[in-house]
Formats: sequence, structure tokens, C-alpha cells
Amino acid sequence: MGIKVIVFNLFCFYLPKSFLDYNVYSIIVDIKSIEDSMIVRTRFAPSPTGNLHLGSIRTALFSWLYARHMGGEFILRIEDTDQERSTKEAIDIILESMDWLGLNYEEGPFYQSKRLERYREVADQFIDAGLAYRCNCSKERIDDLRAKQLANKQKPRYDGHCRNKNLPHSNEPYVVRFKNPEDGVVTYDDLILGQISFQNSELDDLVIMRPSGFPTFNFCVVVDDFDMKISHVIRGADHVNNTPRQINIFRALNATPPVYGHVPLILGSDGKLLAKRHGARSVLQYRDDGFLPEAMLNYLVRLGWSHGDQEIFSREEMIKLFDAKDINKAAAAFNQDKLIWLNRHYLKTLAPESLVEGLKKEFADQKIDCSDGPSLVEVIKIQRERSETLREIAAKSHYFYQDFSDYESQAKKHLTRESVKFLAAAKHRFEILPDWTDASLHQILEDVAKEFELKLGVVAQAIRVAMTGSTISPPLNITLRLIGKKRVLERMARALAFIS
Ligand code: GLU
Repeated sequence: MGIKVIVFNLFCFYLPKSFLDYNVYSIIVDIKSIEDSMIVRTRFAPSPTGNLHLGSIRTALFSWLYARHMGGEFILRIEDTDQERSTKEAIDIILESMDWLGLNYEEGPFYQSKRLERYREVADQFIDAGLAYRCNCSKERIDDLRAKQLANKQKPRYDGHCRNKNLPHSNEPYVVRFKNPEDGVVTYDDLILGQISFQNSELDDLVIMRPSGFPTFNFCVVVDDFDMKISHVIRGADHVNNTPRQINIFRALNATPPVYGHVPLILGSDGKLLAKRHGARSVLQYRDDGFLPEAMLNYLVRLGWSHGDQEIFSREEMIKLFDAKDINKAAAAFNQDKLIWLNRHYLKTLAPESLVEGLKKEFADQKIDCSDGPSLVEVIKIQRERSETLREIAAKSHYFYQDFSDYESQAKKHLTRESVKFLAAAKHRFEILPDWTDASLHQILEDVAKEFELKLGVVAQAIRVAMTGSTISPPLNITLRLIGKKRVLERMARALAFIS
């Protein structure tokens, strides 16, 4: 499409004005390709240098939602040019996190480390066109300059010493610097923060290629956003100061810069920048702690975005309602209680079948073989009302699949000499029960209580301890049903043996 437009432009030059009617235009530029170029394309461009925390994945979510809402495309780009800090492990974490949350992408993952040739090519083109230059200022000179500027209370910036020297390529080390315009203003309308202006006089000639021949961050971002036809850059507010530099590089490419939107950062509940102590942990740690992707997405979308006072958003609703105008300008605060509240909500309301895989993983993490026992759907149904996370459901449900090692000390007091008689009677009734249903198991508990003139609670608590080793469980008849006849009888015998 770009080529066709250039052809068209050149063509126009030689044509009398009257030729420039719709017909001529439609011959040269096919309308479909114009529409293609209008498509919204956003990207998530993380640097794989550590854990992916909530702040980063929230940026990914907003960028993804923007594309999805606009019927556009979303691209994943791994910014791994910092060879020393980028790791394979961090890349895997990014890919796994995107996958867990269902943030799908039309293109990518692209890797900057595989595009080095392209950056060199553009840098050379810039030099040839006089848009960039070689600079061989020594480190000492730069350090000296900086020290002097700081002493004079000036902002440290390169002074353009080599700007007009036209240095040729040499085997001595040099950097390539972008010729930033010396004056004028860079102004842009931030999708989130509104109009922002920077004086060019505040910006210096940015290094775009290092002596090692490696490109620098701001340069790669622009070449990539240009090549990947990114229409909207939605990223963290920590990049606001990079934007005027990037816009200038875009203009040097003779291209229209994308629309930029900077998402405010996330603060801990104490108002300080989110850090480990607030839960700035890897997104995957939340998965491993038993949080549901639905809860996480819902939590993240509300972290700095709102739609009236609605709190619960399904994925489809987020996509439908997401409008960048509703992103708050102020930083959002992390709130663990709200995340838990949302997780409880989704645990209770999602189809139990959709939680099975996650629960299986939790059992595996807790070294419990959940293949011999009740179905996981049953366990979810009975435990989810009383749990915050999948991890908690698993932790509370070991006794359905495996014998507990000992009675909890508080629980032992329910296994008394006096309980032997009714425990033995209950055991007998369990043994001869023809159907193993909630209703008939409940009937047994009632009948035994009646027979021994005891409160139902007294009978139930002793049996609960016999079954689970503890004094807490879901309703006992359901617990008995799920534990299953064979294990129930074994554990009744074990309790009786323990008492005697
Ligand atoms: N790689 C940058 C980061 O992880 C993001 C760059 C961008 O979005 O433009 O912070």
C-alpha cells in the first residue's frame, strides 16, 4: 500500500489537476488497501528482563482491549536487545502469562534480537540522509561535559560536538546519534493524558547505535512501530519522556507517528510505587496461588479504568465497553482484598467444569493424586462457597483423596470413650446402607442421634473428626458421600481404634 501511494504521489506531479478525479485515484490506489492501513494495530512490547508484574500485564490488557474494542489487531513484541539482562526464562514467563489470561495476538512474538540488521540498515539510511551522524566523543569528554553542566545546574545533554563533522565510518569506536531538531516544540495528544508538549531544546542528539553496533531502545521501538504499522502505542507512563524523541525519529522516517496513550502507574495501598511488598509479584504467582484468570483480568481492568460504578466485567463486556477515555489519569492503587473478592465471585459463579484444570494443577502442586476419589467438579461445587482460591479448595480437600496423617489436636477431644457406642452404631449403619446418597447419609446421622438421645451436632462432630481429622468440613452428609463408602468405613474403624 505504501508503495502504491508513493506511485500515486509521483504520478500526480505530472498530471494536470483535472486528471486527479476519483477514477484515476481508484485505478492507482485500491480502496481495500487504504482500509487495511486504517486498521487499529496495538502492541505489547515487554523487555524480558525479569518477572512480569501486574503493572506490565495491565498495560498489555489495555492495549489488547483497545485493539479488540476497535476490531483491530494486537501484536506481541519482545524487546530483547539488552543482551545482558534479557533471559529465556523471562520470555517464557511473558508468553505463559499472556496465554493464561487469554491475551491473544494476531502477530508475533517478534524478537528485536532477530531484527538487528534492520536497525543497522535504518541507521545507515539516516546517516546517508543527514538525519544522523557518527560521534567519536570519548567517554571522558562526555563525563566531563556532564559534570560541568551539573555544576552549572543545567540538565545534562550532549552538546552536538560531532553534529556537523560528517565523520566517516572508521574502525575506531563511535556511536551514531540522531540529529534531533534544535528548536521548535513536539506536541502530541496523548490518548489518556491529553495534550503534552516538549521543547526540542530540552532534548539532545540521542545515541541510536552503540559502539558495539547494537541499537538503543528508543530507536528500535520506532523502527518496529513503523515496520509493524502500529497505529496506537499504549504503554506505561514511565515512557512519556521517550515519546517526543520517538516522534522526532518517526518524522525523520517521513512517517506519521502513531497515537500514544500512557497508562498511569500502579501504586501500593500506601501510595508508593508498587513494589514486592505490595504484591508486585509475577502474574504467574497469582495463577500458582489459585487465582482465576477471569478474576485477574477483571481486577486488572478496574485498576485505572472504570465504567460507571460497575465492578464485574466478563471478557466480552470489557471488550464491548472499553474506551481509552475512561482510563484514569491518576495512578491506581493495588488492593489485594479486592482481588480476593473478585476471585471469590468467579469461583462461585463460573461453571465448575471450567475450574477443573486449575484445581488439578493445585492438587499436583500439593502432591495429591486426585485420580482416586470424587470428581473434581463435585469437590468444586461443595468447597467453592467457602474458599477464596483454587489453592485453598485443594488444600481443604486432601482428605477426599488421601488419608490424613493425624487428628488435629483440637479435634481429638471429640473422640471420647462416650462416643464409641454411637460411632460403632453409625459405622454399622454405613456398612449396610444400600444407597450412598446425601439424603440417606443424613438420615443415618439423625437416626443415630435419636437412638442415643444426643444432639445431632455431637454425633456429627465426632464423625466429622473421624472422617477429616479436623472439626471443619462441608455439610457432613455430602462430605461422607464424596469420601466414599470404602474410606468412610476404614476411617470409622480407625477412630474407634484410636479411642480404645
Ligand atoms: N520495552 C518497554 C518496557 O518493557 C516498553 C516499550 C514500549 O512500550 O514502547 O518497558
